[in-house]
Amino acid sequence: MKILVVGQGGREHALVWKLAQSPLVEKIYCAPGNPGISQIAASIPMPERFADLANWAESESIALTVVGPEVPLAEGIVDVFRERGLKAFGPDKRAAHLEASKDFAKQLMMKNDIPTAAHRTFTDAEEAMAYIEDQNTPVFVKANGLAAGKGVIPGRTFKEAKAFGDAGDSVVIEEELIGEEASFTVLTDGTYCLPFVSSQDHKMSHDGDTGKNTGGMGAYSPAPVITPELHDYVMERIVYPTVNGMADIDRLFKGVLYVGLMITDAGPKVVEFNCRFGDPEAQVLLPRLKSDLVPLLIACIDGTLKQHADVQWHNEAAACIAMASGGYPDPYQTGEVITGLEDANAIEGVTVFHAGTEQDGEDIVTAGGRVLGVTAVAGGLHDAIQRAYQGVSAIQFADAHYRKDIGYRALGRN
Ligand code: AMP
Repeated sequence: MKILVVGQGGREHALVWKLAQSPLVEKIYCAPGNPGISQIAASIPMPERFADLANWAESESIALTVVGPEVPLAEGIVDVFRERGLKAFGPDKRAAHLEASKDFAKQLMMKNDIPTAAHRTFTDAEEAMAYIEDQNTPVFVKANGLAAGKGVIPGRTFKEAKAFGDAGDSVVIEEELIGEEASFTVLTDGTYCLPFVSSQDHKMSHDGDTGKNTGGMGAYSPAPVITPELHDYVMERIVYPTVNGMADIDRLFKGVLYVGLMITDAGPKVVEFNCRFGDPEAQVLLPRLKSDLVPLLIACIDGTLKQHADVQWHNEAAACIAMASGGYPDPYQTGEVITGLEDANAIEGVTVFHAGTEQDGEDIVTAGGRVLGVTAVAGGLHDAIQRAYQGVSAIQFADAHYRKDIGYRALGRN
């Protein structure tokens, strides 16, 4: 079959890389893709209108479209494909609201008794300021809408939240949760939920989880903080109540449900929901999946996911180090020539996923904040992390920035 992947980051490179291993797949297209993706899939331009992409998919007999990022999902790309009778993986617009509106997500959690931080939503600046000033403990101020991982201000003021622009039209103000974070990812057809192995990412820009919030500076899997007991608790108290709660209000959620968790002394609490794979979590989860991804994604669309409950995983651990442009998440230079990609890919167990890269004549150059996700698998987490850093050492571009401590919490436990 022919498959179309929508997106252009490291997550989509990992998706294309995994899909390409399926014996069911004849050809993969990616809109718009990136130079790394182009080595395994045909890049096509991303049209402005979803209808034009659906026309193209229809004319090319695309059997499955896989949507990577949240923005097209929130804008209803799956609805447009579905109206044509085309199979598209991901939640429709009504279901993607779970990520697109933090206030909606909070209401769903309250209604279904899902553990999360206490919160208030404000549309009036003065009321919000007065509320923040009244709190004795730190609060998190969050833009209500999509903000590309940059919509959260820890313990600060509403003035800064207003700088979020559209995404900050209303703000959610939350109590601070204390604990260790972990990512919990499931595939769902709206009824049955198939959990992925656990993972953890590093959101802060600098070592020791200091600096600024970013899209994610690295990830690893498994995350030992998710014990088997916590896994069961999260499935029973968080994942199923969320998916069932969405079905109850006629927002059947099909696709990837990503739950950002804080493991507090009082148990796991939800920090956020995403309606797609985490990036960089996808880069460590997909290499650990042994089963064919294609039948799983189709089963999510068709409502037959339960038949795939025996999904197989590799025992190996995986680690991903994001190599970013110096300065990210603040303004940074682009257009820097990248060398050493082949050397890194030649290291046993290492795969370099492209995020913000561009072809410039013969060269591959930097074109974004997060440039590469250098990923490695190995028998254990320690070795996977070491291999990933070997990969990083083989790659050069001017002003490259990466964290040197990916996985430190997990390694500290061992
Ligand atoms: P969000 O966009 O809601 O996922 O928030 C981004 C990051 O901010 C999270 O991954 C956490 O590291 C942090 N964060 C958000 N909300 C809270 C909270 N209530 N307590 C502690 N940390 C939080």
